[in-house]
Amino acid sequence: QTQKETLGFQTEVKQLLQLMIHSLYSNKEIFLRELISNAADASDKLRFEALTQPALLENDGDLRIRVSFDATANTLTIDDNGIGMSRDEAIAHLGTIAKSGTGDFLRQLSGDQKKDSQLIGQFGVGFYSAFIVADQVDVYSRRAGLPASEGVHWSSRGEGEFDVESIDKPERGTRIVLHLKDDQRDFADGWRLRGIIKKYSDHIGLPIQMAKEHHGEDAPAEVEWETVNRASALWTRPRTEITDAEYQEFYKHAAHDHQDPLAWSHNKVEGKLEYTSLLYVPGHAPFDLYHRDAPKGLKLYVQRVFVMDQAEQFLPLYLRFIKGVVDSNDLSLNVSREILQSGPVIDSMKSALTKRSLDMLEKLAKDKPEVYAGFWKQFGQVLKEGPAEDYGNREKIAGLLRFASTHDDSGEPSVSLADYVGRMIEGQDKIYFLTGDSYTQVKDSPHLEVFRKKGVEVLLLTDRIDEWLMGYLTEFDGKSFVDVARGDLDLGALETAEDKQAQEAVAKDKQALVDRIKAALGDDVADVRVSHRLTDSPAILAIGEQDLGLQMRQILEASGQ
Ligand code: ADP
Ligand code: MG
Repeated sequence: QTQKETLGFQTEVKQLLQLMIHSLYSNKEIFLRELISNAADASDKLRFEALTQPALLENDGDLRIRVSFDATANTLTIDDNGIGMSRDEAIAHLGTIAKSGTGDFLRQLSGDQKKDSQLIGQFGVGFYSAFIVADQVDVYSRRAGLPASEGVHWSSRGEGEFDVESIDKPERGTRIVLHLKDDQRDFADGWRLRGIIKKYSDHIGLPIQMAKEHHGEDAPAEVEWETVNRASALWTRPRTEITDAEYQEFYKHAAHDHQDPLAWSHNKVEGKLEYTSLLYVPGHAPFDLYHRDAPKGLKLYVQRVFVMDQAEQFLPLYLRFIKGVVDSNDLSLNVSREILQSGPVIDSMKSALTKRSLDMLEKLAKDKPEVYAGFWKQFGQVLKEGPAEDYGNREKIAGLLRFASTHDDSGEPSVSLADYVGRMIEGQDKIYFLTGDSYTQVKDSPHLEVFRKKGVEVLLLTDRIDEWLMGYLTEFDGKSFVDVARGDLDLGALETAEDKQAQEAVAKDKQALVDRIKAALGDDVADVRVSHRLTDSPAILAIGEQDLGLQMRQILEASGQ
């Protein structure tokens, strides 16, 4: 099919376009970062495919991105000689959104522009951001390896639909022409564009070129291209030469995010294995953090050549929010996902990268506790999967957990186990906790009475996952965990000899009452005992030592078991 056809955007794309145009007005220049980022990805993909099919390079192996403008016509052009797109690919990639959970995401939007513009950051803005500054976008592309006659021209005004037609395009790759809106004429300016490229795309590992400008003098007939960015992959440069702003911009490109990361860790490993890693902690959870098939994993390079996105094998699942790059000298360039499944090189990299990630979080918690509190709100629940998945690192992970506790009445998850241990009172050798559905439900629980009286802190665990988590955490700093709602509470050395005597006396005294209650309740309870854990309440329901906790029962009931 060569003739022109008009197709409708997928509903989600239409919504996204609306949102983008109306909520990203304050930072319009990011469209250039997105288009350059796509051009760089397209070049990475070509380089990778050319490893096995050198013919794809078509005798033009100098990959570069060119940015040009025409102030009279009010257009801006971004041209790459990367992998390009076929007609079908252009329809699929520039007409639909393939990410899982997109519909759910869009339903969360409120119409409140400020909130929505935050949300859109979680989604990633991408190609469609071109419509922030352009009222028409033309894409001319040809996929590497296809004949010149199989080029495609995609065109849209960013409203409901787009046109595609087949064209002749001798040069491989993609050229995107933005017809700038009247009030966005300032973007057709060399000085402005150079500034934006330096600011957002300096770290891109291939040359971004612009035509040399000749002011006053006679310009030569032939355009002279000059490289505007530094054009060396950021992670290959020495740490001391990289600024924070550069690390942040690189993150946005690699993670397809548009908010700053909270922390990063850049390391070059030499010795038996050789690789460089650059890991980031994002500032916010992606909208699809809990989707099973949501993208996760690192960008994998082998000797500077891009090999794949979302290499999941280098980090455990509970660290799936970590983003970044790993560049290995040991893996082969034709490594596949199957090969990555296991093997000594992968295993040893995975365990080192896991440790690096945990160290990075530890450092963040120590140096910037307020920032860590924000991290915890976003990703704490995921980290709680850690002790079960990664038993070997459970003590390290435990150190990163945060809980609410009776220490203050904020209900905020701000107490670390180290804080707790530091506040243990004389004679205390256990870490006490209580689980429940919500902070309001547990904060006045009768189970806490005896602890309040003795001035012993109790952790208040109210996430659905907490009870399950505590099944995998047995000790911290040599102290075992005790669920205060379970069985006969043994307070150990916290109980004085007088306490014990008084308790025995009461127990004897009340035996008749206990027998009567037992007879009345019959099989509804396993046992009736005199409790010493209450100071104000008359009675309490406790869970047997070996029984499932309430949360686990609810989870199992909900799942029909
Ligand atoms: P993302 O980059 O997160 O995948 P985008 O909206 O930025 O999302 O781009 C959508 C898709 O369009 C890309 O994944 C890619 O397949 C295709 N694409 C965009 N720009 C180019 C380009 N310059 N060359 C080849 N393919 C491109
Ligand atoms: Mg993109």
